[in-house]
Amino acid sequence: MLTVMKFGGTSVGSPEAIERVAKIVAGTEGKKAVVVSAMSGITNFLVGVCKDVPGLREETLKTFEEKHLAVANALFQGERLEAFMKDFTPRLEAFRAVLYDDDARLNDPYYVDNVTSQGERFSSLLLSHKLQDMGIPSVALTSEDAGVTAVGRPLNGEGDLAACGRNMGVNTALVIAKGIVPVITGFYGVTADHHVLTFGRGGSDYAAAVVANALNADMLEIWTDVDGFMSADPRIVKGAVKIDEMTYAEASELAYFGAKVLHPRTIEPVRKKHIPLKVRNSFKPEEPGTLISQFRKPKNELLRSVAAKTDLSILTIGSPEIAYRPDITAKILSKISENNDAIYSISTSLSTLAVLIHNNDVKDTLKRLNDLEDSDVERIDVTADMALICCVGDNLMTTVGVSGEIFGAVKDAQANVNMISEGASAVSLNFVVPMDQAMAVVSALHHKFVEE
Ligand code: ASP
Ligand code: MG
Repeated sequence: MLTVMKFGGTSVGSPEAIERVAKIVAGTEGKKAVVVSAMSGITNFLVGVCKDVPGLREETLKTFEEKHLAVANALFQGERLEAFMKDFTPRLEAFRAVLYDDDARLNDPYYVDNVTSQGERFSSLLLSHKLQDMGIPSVALTSEDAGVTAVGRPLNGEGDLAACGRNMGVNTALVIAKGIVPVITGFYGVTADHHVLTFGRGGSDYAAAVVANALNADMLEIWTDVDGFMSADPRIVKGAVKIDEMTYAEASELAYFGAKVLHPRTIEPVRKKHIPLKVRNSFKPEEPGTLISQFRKPKNELLRSVAAKTDLSILTIGSPEIAYRPDITAKILSKISENNDAIYSISTSLSTLAVLIHNNDVKDTLKRLNDLEDSDVERIDVTADMALICCVGDNLMTTVGVSGEIFGAVKDAQANVNMISEGASAVSLNFVVPMDQAMAVVSALHHKFVEE
């Protein structure tokens, strides 16, 4: 039995948190591999540093060193502290070299990836030494050491699952077979030509799923600071309840469309190998969390969970008789996707195509669409500051009157629906409302279908 355990930033954010997490690892049966985020706040700090590197180098290194040494000094004494420092000092020197590499700063497209990956390189050292201090054989592995291989564009990488399987099957599997617990850096992998490539903000969950896939783990546990997937965001809906079981499909729809529990791409690598995933709270290890797997017990409920993804824009693209001209649809979509930005929904009519994208991507997308012929695209309207409401539940496709019920609740919340996507997924129904009405809609739906 091999369990891959991932701990997030708040779970390793203080000496007490690291001690709590080390106990959770120690108390887990069987073989284990651990994946960690940077200590909370560190990645944000590093992102800030990238904006003004030359002036801040020494200050950055000092602040960074102090933050990590304060935790190390609280956790370790004597020989353990010495052993920690032996690993810590060369890593800090390596970070210094990155910060002083002006050529890379100006010319290497992966420079920001490299700087922001530094946090994980140090949190993994802290946890690994804590485990060793408790008598648990452990080694801190960077993604480079472990063989986490990545492909993709800077700041937006993904795991190369086949290569990860090959590489980790040698380095990391051997460590685990010897009964040693590897503590692996989350958040980034390494490209075939040795560039550091991050998986996007919050990407350590995804990194852990890639590791679980590569090692053919029996279980992936994502330890975070909430009890699991909830029926709605508890900050918006007071009566939100935890969900015990979900399918991969339900969890990935919700994670993608707004629930902030998991990095949205976490499900895919584990789903591919049918590895069950548990979301658990490291501050309440006695709680069972949410179990996500291929199947779950059916429940007789229309709506299990509702989430909202905000800061989106609808581009309404007018093109005469687009319905008869599929080549135009293809051209438009290929222009929109040139930058690999997410498209959250698409809807068509005879002469318009409506596409939902992030507010931040509008400007560049419009620029690219400008390249198209005037005869293909007559006009483009932008409706900004929209929210996508994602309803997930059993029987959404098969129950007569579901849409009526759901939109009835939306009407009660006095919200206007700007776009609808139904039928694309068997487990979800999504629609778009103005962002300032999103909270009222989520509350109304939750109240009608979950609380009552
Ligand atoms: N430390 C990275 C971030 O803050 C990755 C993660 O925590 O998942 O985005
Ligand atoms: Mg996270």
